[in-house]
Amino acid sequence: MRFPVISRNLLNPFMLPSDPSSLRQYRGRFAPSPSGPLHFGSLVAALGSWLCARAAQGRWLVRMEDIDPLREQPGASDHILATLARFGMVSDEPVRFQSARRERYREVLVALAHRDMAYPCTCSRQQLQAFAGIHPAQCPAPVDPTRTPAWRVRVAGTEPITFEDGVCGRVTQDVVREVGDFVIWRHDDWPAYQLAVVVDDAEQGITEVVRGADLLDSTPRQIVLQKLIGLPKPEYVHLPLALDPEGRKLSKSDAARPVDPLDPMPALRAALCFLGQDTQDAAFDVRTVLDKALAGFDRKEIPSTNTRLIAALDQPAG
Ligand code: GLU
Repeated sequence: MRFPVISRNLLNPFMLPSDPSSLRQYRGRFAPSPSGPLHFGSLVAALGSWLCARAAQGRWLVRMEDIDPLREQPGASDHILATLARFGMVSDEPVRFQSARRERYREVLVALAHRDMAYPCTCSRQQLQAFAGIHPAQCPAPVDPTRTPAWRVRVAGTEPITFEDGVCGRVTQDVVREVGDFVIWRHDDWPAYQLAVVVDDAEQGITEVVRGADLLDSTPRQIVLQKLIGLPKPEYVHLPLALDPEGRKLSKSDAARPVDPLDPMPALRAALCFLGQDTQDAAFDVRTVLDKALAGFDRKEIPSTNTRLIAALDQPAG
């Protein structure tokens, strides 16, 4: 990768919201990747983050994490946004598209590289097998000049990370031993999720991240990056995952059960029930159901265990 000429600006590129009062207000977000239509698992994450933000009288933002062109489906972003609107959830601020911010993330990478906190790497999966897939502090082989490198962040010297998750409780991970130097810039010249997400969570002033528990083990990596870059750490809440009847996570890319934007009520009720919230009320329009859910919202009722769904109904199984 070509380095732009270093400037002062790049050494301190981490712009935080300039209005300090905006940092005190709760700011939450839902950050889907547009790899397919919204499915039940993403609806749970959207609804969980929306309820937490609204219950705190805060702002709720939508960020489209569209930095992986090969996995994206044309039209999926629009479809997700339109579906969210049918479920009564609209971003309080203009939707941020990560694809438009590639150069911003690159500036952060460059700043890290200039401080020798990131380095190019052409190690293959096969080469890393000898290290159980955990990249050591030095590449086992020199960089292959015929291949475009990925970039990894140096984690050596970082302490084990412990944080209190709002649903899962205390989580500890030693990133040096359990993950190793991880990729922050992919060899296809796009930022890795871990880098883009911490930059945007900080720059958007997110105070609490509410998302699916599949990302629980990414969180220590994100906290390591926040520490290395000098970004604030938001609170974290990881919601239980919706699993298919075989116990696998639902995912947009495998075309798992999109929710029906034209008939939102069944999935909305099921998502509330999934989050442990009361759905007894006989309300039959989205607005009323959301208002009532908000009035009775109790985050302590959110279960910490993943739940299998009964195939046809999207209802938590027994
Ligand atoms: N874009 C990720 C996904 O769709 C979520 C990232 C996040 O919430 O941090 O799974």
